[in-house]
Amino acid sequence: MTDSAEHDVIIIGGGPAGSTVARYAAEGGADVLVIDGRDPIGTPLQCGELVPSNDEMRRLCPDVPDMDDLFQTPSEAISRISTEMHVLPPSGKPLKYDFEGLVLNRVAHDEALVELAKKAGATYLTDQYVKSVEGNTVFLRNGDEKSAKVIVGAGGHSDPLRRDYWDEKSLKIPVKFVLMDGDYGEAVELHFGSMAPGGYAWMFPKSSGANIGLGIQRNFSKGKTMNQYADEFIQKYDGKITFKGAGSLPMSGTIKTFVKGNYMLVGDSAGMVLPSNGAGITIAMVGGRIAGQVIAEHLKDGTPLGEYEKRWNKQMGKVMRNSKRSFKFGSLLFRLPDWMLNALFNPLTKGIIWRAVTCRRMLWII
Ligand SMILES: Cc1cc2nc3c(=O)[nH]c(=O)nc-3n(C[C@H](O)[C@H](O)[C@H](O)COP(=O)(O)OP(=O)(O)OC[C@H]3O[C@@H](n4cnc5c(N)ncnc54)[C@H](O)[C@@H]3O)c2cc1C
Repeated sequence: MTDSAEHDVIIIGGGPAGSTVARYAAEGGADVLVIDGRDPIGTPLQCGELVPSNDEMRRLCPDVPDMDDLFQTPSEAISRISTEMHVLPPSGKPLKYDFEGLVLNRVAHDEALVELAKKAGATYLTDQYVKSVEGNTVFLRNGDEKSAKVIVGAGGHSDPLRRDYWDEKSLKIPVKFVLMDGDYGEAVELHFGSMAPGGYAWMFPKSSGANIGLGIQRNFSKGKTMNQYADEFIQKYDGKITFKGAGSLPMSGTIKTFVKGNYMLVGDSAGMVLPSNGAGITIAMVGGRIAGQVIAEHLKDGTPLGEYEKRWNKQMGKVMRNSKRSFKFGSLLFRLPDWMLNALFNPLTKGIIWRAVTCRRMLWII
């Protein structure tokens, strides 16, 4: 660490992870600069837009404290509150569960996080891509250089710190989705089986229309392309498509270490997505808060940055381990023929399937 750095912290990426680190580090007194290649941050949309409500997050992640301080989703960022989740095998016959989910206006959601961070004192530099990082210096594509004592990689799946300083690979699944006009009822839907091999498909109804998409594991795809799978699933719904998007989702869970010297990873760049249900937004924010708080303490009293990993493991370790296990088990299960899956989704297995989706141990052995 050098004392001549321009900033205490530079955060690469101002998505849910980066803006949450920025908010909590700035609240703790740090001088924070966030650099993001997009302008405005959050556009274009790359998301299914479903997050659990704060109460649901308390059930899902019982060791994470003070959800209401972390998740302050403003009403304009919520398109619909759904109270039911349907989990469907290829037959289309749903298992129905009580689940409170917020179907977001994701762009407004991310803008609100930026505003919270700015209110806490963080500064943003948008429309500027980080090319690379060396020592305490961040090199921008336009030739400018910035420096900081701590540098955070919150740049998602293509984060430059992760790319250049971490060898560990994550399984990334390609994802495609559309926004579609029409009326799709109240329940959010997750579909499993041959329509989305190794992944899942979704239909999340919004206040008007729905967000519909899917992700697959390419090595399960039996010669069909991602576009074919996406088209076949989306064509089951007959509304007018108003937006098309795509992206990539890390699905092997968190990597082994998030801290190297004065570099830290958070959010998708650290694999903070629950693979059994694809939840990444809220989990990135859980990691972001811990990272931001530890950075502020580090700058004040020398708390080691590695404290971030310890607190993450305390708050999220069990949930992430269960989710990874369920995903691995599901990857085997969903290779079965559709008729078998249809038979396996039944009232007797309903509870086990829900435990897997919500990251709890399915049975005492798995
Ligand atoms: C199609 C799709 C659907 C999804 N659906 C859901 C869902 O329904 N619910 C859910 O919880 N999660 C969902 N996810 C996952 C969720 O979007 C991510 O887990 C979450 O956005 C992670 O936040 P993040 O801040 O780590 O990364 P991101 O949101 O990806 O933000 C990274 C930011 O870094 C910036 N950036 C990247 N590289 C650079 C660089 N070199 N220089 C400067 N800036 C850079 C980007 O512009 C971006 O703003 C979905 C993902 C995809 C792709």
